[in-house]
Amino acid sequence: MAQANLARPSKIIADRLSRCRRQMKKHRISAYLISSPTDSFYLAGFSGEDSAVLLTPKEVHLITDRRFEESSRKECPWAKAWMRKGMLNDEIANVSKALKIKSLAIQSQYMSVASHAALKKLIRSTRLTNAPTILSDMRQVKSSAELVTMRKAIRVAEDAFVAMRKSIRVGQTELALAARLEYEMKLRGASGASFPTICAEGPNAALPHASPGSRRVKRGSAVLFDWGAKIGGYCSDLTRMVFIGSMPRKLEVVYSIVLEAQQRAIAAIRPGRRMCDIDAVARDHITGAGYGEAFGHGLGHGLGLNVHEAPSLSWRSKEKLVAGMVVTVEPGVYLPGVGGIRIEDDVLVTPNGRSVMSRLGKNPEDAIIRIGR
Ligand code: ZN
Ligand code: ZN
Repeated sequence: MAQANLARPSKIIADRLSRCRRQMKKHRISAYLISSPTDSFYLAGFSGEDSAVLLTPKEVHLITDRRFEESSRKECPWAKAWMRKGMLNDEIANVSKALKIKSLAIQSQYMSVASHAALKKLIRSTRLTNAPTILSDMRQVKSSAELVTMRKAIRVAEDAFVAMRKSIRVGQTELALAARLEYEMKLRGASGASFPTICAEGPNAALPHASPGSRRVKRGSAVLFDWGAKIGGYCSDLTRMVFIGSMPRKLEVVYSIVLEAQQRAIAAIRPGRRMCDIDAVARDHITGAGYGEAFGHGLGHGLGLNVHEAPSLSWRSKEKLVAGMVVTVEPGVYLPGVGGIRIEDDVLVTPNGRSVMSRLGKNPEDAIIRIGR
């Protein structure tokens, strides 16, 4: 059942809809099915799940269910809402038939093979095509309003980290410190963590995506924290090391290599440069110092509504940086059995270069804390 549309979308949403429609026209798409919840939020301001947005040159159809009836009325009263009773695919098929859609462009990266097969069966008269990555491309370049929200998400993560650091005591577990950091972020207005907080003590930090566990912080520990706050849907993503009392000898040189690699890469960021070239700046420095094999991941990634989104700041990408992109810069060196060092900041590409959005200190002396028992 479709409801009549009453209001108009906000200026931000209207602008996104028209930019998306321009891309649809360019790619000869007359109906575009958006099934990524993040893209639906970006494009239509709709925050529900198990839903889809179907965009045509003139209309916006929101396919959802009764759980989100109220929020759909509040968030997008200007869209035609379809409340499904059956499966999401059944209602997509109903809408498709009602609108006599001949060709429907889907987001193949967000649709399972099973769902695609089921939808194909339900609407035999409609051809399903793969849409290009219109929305993730649009999302790469942030507006000034998006940057305001992202700065808040970064500030909250930083303030929470400073508060958590003050609470560190010998004997606390990684899990307790990760929980404290998430608690401090929520106290400051975060809706949650951008991703499960990483707190990795000693040799655990040699795993780039370690999960916090029952390891305890002791004197001389090197502890890696990788965390972020989510505010207004937007993510921050930072990594800092904390050394308890002093920096372990084995990591002193590594810390300065990683820091230098990060600073060189940040200084190289400006519009028009290729992602792989920025990655190479950091990688060449680490390789030159003899640790190339120990830096096994890309230099960074785009940041926004998702903690990992386009662009990919890695050796694999020949795409170019564009003003308005926000990327993380996070080189790391991981030594199995010993530990790991990673330093991560969030960086905005500006028309003339770059601006580092995060401000937490990262000199070796900033990373060492003196604590009581
Ligand atoms: Zn991170
Ligand atoms: Zn990251």
